[in-house]
Amino acid sequence: MIPVLLYHSVNREPPAGQERWTVSPSAFASHVDALARSGRTAVTVSDYANALSGAGTLPPRPVLVTFDDGFADVEDAAQVLHAKGVPSTLYMTSGWVGRPGMVTAKQLTELGALGVEIGAHSRTHPRLDELLASEVWSEVAGAGRDLEDILGRPCTSFAYPHGNHDRAVRQAVIDAGYRSACGVKNALSHLFDDRYAIARLTVEATTPLSRIQAWLAGTGAFQASDRERIRTRAYRLARRVRLGFPDVSWPGR
Ligand SMILES: [Zn+2]
Repeated sequence: MIPVLLYHSVNREPPAGQERWTVSPSAFASHVDALARSGRTAVTVSDYANALSGAGTLPPRPVLVTFDDGFADVEDAAQVLHAKGVPSTLYMTSGWVGRPGMVTAKQLTELGALGVEIGAHSRTHPRLDELLASEVWSEVAGAGRDLEDILGRPCTSFAYPHGNHDRAVRQAVIDAGYRSACGVKNALSHLFDDRYAIARLTVEATTPLSRIQAWLAGTGAFQASDRERIRTRAYRLARRVRLGFPDVSWPGR
């Protein structure tokens, strides 16, 4: 069970309309303390996705911290994480760079020094599953290009605004060259999670510390569905049995 925490703004004064999603700096500090005491090791989404694809390895008890949208206060939050050696991932809405209250291009380039990976979160934050294919492509591929222009390096992870995605949106993310994507799901992730719809747990203004501690213990939420994986694995196993592959052996055979 792997918790992938999702934060938005971390601020004493929530941005307009963000009250529900804004965590106070003192609450955030207590979450980071709990994380540091949990015995888990934080990794970025790209490190995690590499391991999900079989291309990389993970520490024994991983945890992930992510931020969506790109509120300017992410820099203070990243400082708190950095002081504890905790890397994180920021999913930036590229059309919001430099807007009042949001991360500037300069900040974006500096966050890397605080261990923050930058991923894309579309250009204008629409519900992607309600758009035409051409619009989806502009939002998905365009956001990555916008951010790469600022950062001067590839942007390899994507997060679906509002968590909304369907098969076509997921495919657009793959076709645009991203190597991973985060959903929301409000469930615990795991090693068989979908690399293009990684489950995350939304931290809200009212989320009690006890719930964060439960998530860090790998409880307090459902595990993300891996029905597709189970189906695929069952199919492969059935095929091996039928074909008599040597890795499926029966007693006495
Ligand atoms: Zn968002």
